[in-house]
Amino acid sequence: MNQHVSKVLGIIGGGQLGMMLTEAARSMPEHVSKVVVLDPTTNCPAARAGAQQIVADFKDKNAIVELSMQSDIITYEIESGDSQVLESLTAPISVSPSPATLRIIQDKFLQKTFLRDNNIPVPKFLAIESLADLKSKIPLFGYPVLLKMRRDAYDGRGNFRIENQDQVESAYGLFEGKQMMIEKMIDFKMEISVIAARNTNGEIATYPAVENIHKENILEMTIAPARIEPEIAERAETIARKTMDIFHGAGVFGIEMFVTRDDSVLVNEIAPRVHNSGHHTLQSSETSQFEQHVRAILGLPLGSTRLKHRAVMRNILGPKDFKGRYKPITLENKKGIYLKMYHKDEAKPQRKLGHINVIDIDDTEDINTLINKAEQVRNLIKFEPLG
Ligand code: ATP
Ligand code: MG
Repeated sequence: MNQHVSKVLGIIGGGQLGMMLTEAARSMPEHVSKVVVLDPTTNCPAARAGAQQIVADFKDKNAIVELSMQSDIITYEIESGDSQVLESLTAPISVSPSPATLRIIQDKFLQKTFLRDNNIPVPKFLAIESLADLKSKIPLFGYPVLLKMRRDAYDGRGNFRIENQDQVESAYGLFEGKQMMIEKMIDFKMEISVIAARNTNGEIATYPAVENIHKENILEMTIAPARIEPEIAERAETIARKTMDIFHGAGVFGIEMFVTRDDSVLVNEIAPRVHNSGHHTLQSSETSQFEQHVRAILGLPLGSTRLKHRAVMRNILGPKDFKGRYKPITLENKKGIYLKMYHKDEAKPQRKLGHINVIDIDDTEDINTLINKAEQVRNLIKFEPLG
């Protein structure tokens, strides 16, 4: 295929990640002529950003085939696409990252096994086949232990922390009928992540490690760069590169890690896609993770991953006591403060609805000031029902 012909980009999933990918792609008209997304929600965030939309389920085989007929290249913003259907798509259509990689990553047990077999450090884990199996394996790790759904989990919704014996049966009941695994609880001192990219020519680039603060299993804040010793940051980056070496396919990957109390770095999980902890790159970095992903899958040279300014990203989640349509949220522009709403029609408790990036444009503020600023801005944002 001629490199210099502008391509049609197909994306499975048109939520906020698809939206920001669409925005990046549309700002590169010499490389991308059109974006088509597949998403079940009419007028999804990506469609609002100018993508054409096929309204269908992510696993709808006919819809995936239709998307492939309209596209030159296919990528995804969610892990729950049908990897078998994607694997069956044949040249000239290319799917990035590769469906084989998606198939491994989709199943947390296969993913962790693959990482461990390739000498990448991960927490201890075991597959669970039945309630009796769970009961017999918990003593190997002790309480508390984490029960996880192997597939289709996000925002911690597939995780249950079992504190003691009394909770075992109800925890199992919660995920009954699904494949499960257990993991040893890691008493980490920090969660970090590295956004990494590989283009179709094999070039790899990593962004500096960032620090992630979760609340109730959902990412609340990302601090860039992570407040860790340079030596640990280097180790995280090395692990990220090694991870990129073992997983095939082009694109941006989010690699989530734990820094333990004794300063070892373990991989928690890999996302074969742009990642929430990379949203700060929109204003903090030479190249945003979204542009980087488009560059990677189109086989363009990767952009610089240099962090120009320190940054704090604060997620805006739906309030716990409100579900429904809400008034559009705007914010007066202030220096170094960037609000991005995802234009989702409906708020739902804990749903990701937007984020704020606070950027240290003059390179004069300390991280705590940036964190406080992000909190203050977050508190200005109120959700009012749309009458
Ligand atoms: P997300 O979509 O937010 O990435 P997820 O549903 O895929 O989440 P995980 O990443 O497996 O779930 O876990 C969510 C969070 O739970 C982690 O970021 C971490 O805070 C905590 N967690 C997961 N596994 C462990 C573990 N083995 N020990 C301690 N904490 C853990
Ligand atoms: Mg995770």
